[in-house]
Amino acid sequence: MRWKEQLLRLTPYQPGRSIDAVKKQFNLEKIVKLASNENPFGCSTGVSTALQSNLSSLAIYPDGYATQLREKLAEFLGINEEELILGNGSDNLIQIISRSLLHPNASTIMATPSFSQYKHNAIIEGAVIKELPLINGEHNLDEMLAAIDEQTNVIWVCSPNNPTATYIPENKLIPFLDKVPPHILVVLDEAYYEYVVAEDYYDSINLTRKYENLIVLRTFSKIYGMAGLRVGYGVANRTIIKALEPAREPFNANSLGQLAAIAAINDQEFVEVCKEKNRQGLTQFYDFCEQNQLDYYPSQTNFILIDFKIDGDKVFQYLLEKGFIVRSGKALGFPTAVRVTVGSFEENVGVLQALSDFLKEN
Ligand SMILES: *Cc1c(COP(=O)(O)O)cnc(C)c1O
Repeated sequence: MRWKEQLLRLTPYQPGRSIDAVKKQFNLEKIVKLASNENPFGCSTGVSTALQSNLSSLAIYPDGYATQLREKLAEFLGINEEELILGNGSDNLIQIISRSLLHPNASTIMATPSFSQYKHNAIIEGAVIKELPLINGEHNLDEMLAAIDEQTNVIWVCSPNNPTATYIPENKLIPFLDKVPPHILVVLDEAYYEYVVAEDYYDSINLTRKYENLIVLRTFSKIYGMAGLRVGYGVANRTIIKALEPAREPFNANSLGQLAAIAAINDQEFVEVCKEKNRQGLTQFYDFCEQNQLDYYPSQTNFILIDFKIDGDKVFQYLLEKGFIVRSGKALGFPTAVRVTVGSFEENVGVLQALSDFLKEN
């Protein structure tokens, strides 16, 4: 078959190791998965209640317009219903945007290391990819601006950034947005938005009003604890949404996901509790790093990237055999680091004890 040439160079996304696979391999009873930035506290009880009472309608296609969720989200965010696009996770929105704007005669700009799916989708579309290295874990917005050329169609900005957990302060984002030509779409991926505590963070939804070339991506996979249900959304002005809609699969947000997301929005107390516990959890990691003189980036997310100054795969493997699945920095562009999701208090104690043991033995 005559596959697209660019597909032959790609490997599928490598997910964090599954709990079952690790249990089997190392004959372990209990596994703690801190690899994919999932919420260790699960999701709101309102979500499970909503799902259980709606299991009878699974033979029916989802509402392709996600009417109820759309209304809920619009009200919650203080925007118009036409300023929203729903996704089968925000991964799906990255794909829709790429499909809509990228092609072999287009170029696209992104930071590196950053979230892998921007590049992955850009490769599939055959676009010219310009990756600008982070400085100190942060986007080099000046260099990203300087990389703009005649063909540039999309600029990807991940804030807070995965895998560094750093964010872009308002006083850097605004001048950047001011300088991007209006025909170039800026994608602001805020998968960790709800975890942010920095006071100089910007109001991204408001910015979509001012900047007609900005789309903000958010997800129910992280703080809302619904990664398995696959719901994400994009916020932008009507013109952008209208242009993207034909590239969206008609039923990309599934029925249960839609219901669950409504219930999840209704429980902001759950979100607040998770945010607070996450900040406390991060202090456990900060203390550990300071005690052991390990470098890390201060986090605005529910994960932390820690530099062990040795092969990250070695740290990863050690933890795996003790029943902790984390992410080696090697595949993430930080070969001597590991990325650890902040777990519950006890899970953090466990993984940090294992890391202490590792440091003693190595
Ligand atoms: C987890 C993550 C996503 C994808 O989230 P889904 O909504 O589950 O597809 C997108 N961007 C970043 C930066 C992420 O870390």
